[in-house]
Amino acid sequence: MDVSTKERIGKIYEALPRMDCGLCGFESCGKFARAVAEGRASPFGCRQNPWAGYTISEIVGLEVPSYRYGLQPASFPTLGIGASPEALGQEIRRLSKQVDDILVRIEKLKARR
Ligand code: SF4
Repeated sequence: MDVSTKERIGKIYEALPRMDCGLCGFESCGKFARAVAEGRASPFGCRQNPWAGYTISEIVGLEVPSYRYGLQPASFPTLGIGASPEALGQEIRRLSKQVDDILVRIEKLKARR
């Protein structure tokens, strides 16, 4: 592995929540970071903080349609422009939970077929 790939993995890892929960399909954040750096996983694959995908996309040199699109105030109508990092984190967790719930419902619908 070359130095720049190692550096990219380190930077990606730093952008992740580092919970090692495995929800992304990799057993640790480090393995997920390596997979992204090697082009085997999406920068937006972290289920605990998909928004990190914007930062990670920059690290791996991928262009994304709208930088930090998901963090625009319009996406957080209850928070406003000056929302604290804690409030944004709470909102991100709430939205991630909603995404999880939707994915569970999709899986249940697929199982009924
Ligand atoms: S989903 Fe995110 S926090 Fe969980 S292991 Fe994967 S990269 Fe780490």
